[in-house]
Amino acid sequence: MEPIKDELNLDAITAIFNAQKVNQFVVANQSIKARRKKLLALKKAVLVTYRKAIKEALYKDMKKPAAEVDLTEIYPITSEIKHTLNNLNSWAYKQRVATPIAFLGASSFIKYEPKGVCLIISPWNFPVNLTLAPLVSAIAAGNTVILKPSEMTPNISKVMKTLITDIFNENEVALIEGAVQTSTDLLSLPFNHIFFTGSPAIGKIVMSAAAKHLTSVTLELGGKSPTIVDETASVKSAAKRIAWGKFVNAGQICIAPDYIYVHKSKYEALVTEFKKVLNNFYENEANTSKSYACVVNTNHKKRIISIIEDAKEKGATITYGGKIDKNSNTIEPTILTNVSLNSRVMQEEIFGPILPIISYDNIKDVIHTINTNEKPLALYIYSKKNKNVQHILNNTRAGGSCINNNGVHFYNNNLPFGGSNNSGIGKSHGFYGFQEFSNARGVLKQNIPGALEMLTPPYTNLKEKIINLTIKLL
Ligand code: NAD
Repeated sequence: MEPIKDELNLDAITAIFNAQKVNQFVVANQSIKARRKKLLALKKAVLVTYRKAIKEALYKDMKKPAAEVDLTEIYPITSEIKHTLNNLNSWAYKQRVATPIAFLGASSFIKYEPKGVCLIISPWNFPVNLTLAPLVSAIAAGNTVILKPSEMTPNISKVMKTLITDIFNENEVALIEGAVQTSTDLLSLPFNHIFFTGSPAIGKIVMSAAAKHLTSVTLELGGKSPTIVDETASVKSAAKRIAWGKFVNAGQICIAPDYIYVHKSKYEALVTEFKKVLNNFYENEANTSKSYACVVNTNHKKRIISIIEDAKEKGATITYGGKIDKNSNTIEPTILTNVSLNSRVMQEEIFGPILPIISYDNIKDVIHTINTNEKPLALYIYSKKNKNVQHILNNTRAGGSCINNNGVHFYNNNLPFGGSNNSGIGKSHGFYGFQEFSNARGVLKQNIPGALEMLTPPYTNLKEKIINLTIKLL
């Protein structure tokens, strides 16, 4: 698939930015009812009008099975919209907070105001979900938005362009197609907020560009998400849940279990169970299965093959799968065992259908290895023993976690979703997404003269005594 060319030059992009800048207060001051109307229009477009076109485009771009499109692209947006519609009134309404007694006569509240003109840059792996779900939060908070989807999935970008043009004016929400030059041009403009989803390497470029204008950023990044299966875990359910979380979208998922540490007592059983589960999922032939997606393009196919080759050279065994389809970008789910920690598969984010499995004896060693690497976006624990779970949670760091599952924390809009340091900055979903696109404006209202007014200069002895007492008592 040929990546998209840059659609507009810097002048044309700046014109859209300026039009949104002029319009931002009009959008900001629209009623909550108007924001809700926009969200409902977006929901109808995704769920009804464009659902078929979205599925067809994603099949062309990466052979995504229609059911996976519903589960991983459509549902997260519609559920984000439903959750937002149910809660927007309370989020957007000014929130009263207590005022210290020293400021008697005043009251205080927080007003969540829109940040202004926002930029959303998204990746190719879940292009609809990761472009339009942040848009829900941005609209809910009252912003204008420019969207820049990935150039790697051109068919879905075209559908999203039509969808956005169909329901929004350009001075409110615009979608600009393009590659690195378009991103670079956009990043040169003084946006009020940038919401970026992508790799840590590009996240650093985005943050540097944002620093020039002191633009706030949300960075939803990636990394290696470890999965621990301890000596008490149910191998059967762990294998099924991990296999789905890993091989959906052919492993091109930021929150996929990147590699597994399994207690030595469960190692053989887990490997055996994986083979059963995968044969069952993809009817013994993943590369021709209608339930299995492909790798996005030949560059990524080559990258994944070279990771497997490197692991093999360093002693790894392909215990399951590994077949590469010559005529397409499909690579079978591939389980690697006897993996060296020095191989690329254990050092880079895999972002493809390879699952390394390593056995451990002592959990301390596992925790040590995890903590010597960058903080992961997610860390998963399979265990029936609460003490073990607590020990791992307390002694590791990660953006988010699931216990006895993986990836599904993404779907709960009551939870903040995001990374920490190398795996991200800021959170998305539900109220956390709304907050990210808002400035929490703290307002104190003086209702009647306050006691502090008695303590203005000149500072007499009496006033100093009162100040002293205030510090001690209030
Ligand atoms: P990427 O960082 O290569 O690209 C993301 C976006 O940045 C694209 O729109 C691209 O056009 C743009 N871009 C690329 N180079 C740029 C540059 N030099 N300057 C400015 N913009 C540039 O990421 P990708 O390959 O599309 O996606 C894979 C990565 O995204 C993985 O690391 C994955 O873990 C991460 N990811 C994270 C999440 C999350 O929610 N945390 C979700 C999905 C993917």
